Amino acid sequence: LASRDFHPEDTIIDIKGVKIGGKEIVIMGGPCAVESAEQIDEIAALVKAAGGQVLRGGAFKPRTGPYSFQGVGVEGLIMMQEAGKKHGLLTITEVMTPEYVDICAEYADILQIGTRNMQNFDLLRKLGTCGKPVLLKRGFSATYDELLNAAEYILAGGNPNVMLCERGIRTFESYTRNTLDLAAIPVLQQLSHLPVISDPSHGTGRRELVAPMSKASIAAGANGLIVEMHTDPDNSMTGDGVQSLFPDQFAELLKDLEKLAPIV
Ligand code: PEP
Ligand code: MN
Repeated sequence: LASRDFHPEDTIIDIKGVKIGGKEIVIMGGPCAVESAEQIDEIAALVKAAGGQVLRGGAFKPRTGPYSFQGVGVEGLIMMQEAGKKHGLLTITEVMTPEYVDICAEYADILQIGTRNMQNFDLLRKLGTCGKPVLLKRGFSATYDELLNAAEYILAGGNPNVMLCERGIRTFESYTRNTLDLAAIPVLQQLSHLPVISDPSHGTGRRELVAPMSKASIAAGANGLIVEMHTDPDNSMTGDGVQSLFPDQFAELLKDLEKLAPIV
């Protein structure tokens, strides 16, 4: 079902009038994690003012260590929904377990599956019937074929609205957090009709690389970007402050991107 042979035309996912997968690009921006109602409201206003369409933010965070901040949980879903409604943005948030799919689908417009859960097959099956579009991140050690097979689980379960996300893979290079695999963008678009979104934040792990890799992703044909932005990145509650843009950098990036492709 994910293959272009089966479905030659590009899939366009229409979420409340925002069309993802066509010639226009979609911009998702926001913090790694929802921290408080004030924080997400302030950032939502900045995403909107800069020209973004979707507010990102994790309420449930997949952390490497069990003692790190794990997210504010269901409260965060409520805070995000309010900020999205107030500022006219769609929302995307990560869901990590099958039990939380229904509540996340109730509050968010798009469900994000993180790199660590790309092959959580129970979770993927549950997404088939969740009724909301899904952004499926590539596992950091997954091949294109494994990513497409993971998408297949969601499609086969009855949900046609899946976006693929390149977020960097693990390589021998340690200067960057991950290696953003730009070739994944055209390859996935050749093999599949599903929209392809690039994540230059996790794909590099370094703020100064986010703008150049965003532009490179769009030049390579990405249908959109998911970018971390924070008003106070040095004091963010996850370690992802180092890869988060300051609000003025985010706004400047969107201005530059408009020269490359129209934004939805
Ligand atoms: C995130 O988007 O904050 C995140 C945890 O992403 P990934 O699953 O790509 O690491
Ligand atoms: Mn993050």
